[in-house]
Amino acid sequence: MSNPTIFSRIIAGDIPTDFIYQDEFCVCFKDIHPQAPTHVLIVPREPLPTLASATEQHHALLGHLMLKAGHIARLLGVSEAFRLVVNNGAGAGQTVFHLHLHLMANKKFTEQALMD
Ligand code: 5GP
Repeated sequence: MSNPTIFSRIIAGDIPTDFIYQDEFCVCFKDIHPQAPTHVLIVPREPLPTLASATEQHHALLGHLMLKAGHIARLLGVSEAFRLVVNNGAGAGQTVFHLHLHLMANKKFTEQALMD
């Protein structure tokens, strides 16, 4: 079996981390290198490596993560304007191969060129 990712170690409690939110299926904590004044990660407890590796069996889990993104945005007081990002694969900037949603807010988001 492959080594646990840093997120699995955080979820297991090996790396002390304050959870902003947690439930049976996911946890949420601040990104260690924030790209926006509010930048948290929503991470399923199940260590799915990428979004593209999800299957039909993850249908409910993926819905749960999206619902909780809205809930966490409300908890953080940013539900009027926030951005959710999932990087899938190293070529898209994914560095931790344990699915996670970046929730970012309190930043002026500009349109970004995706064709470069
Ligand atoms: P990715 O590039 O895979 O989409 O995002 C991984 C994110 O995890 C990065 O934004 C990075 O700053 C964050 N990160 C990596 N290691 C840790 C850690 O040990 N603790 C926390 N809180 N965030 C981490």
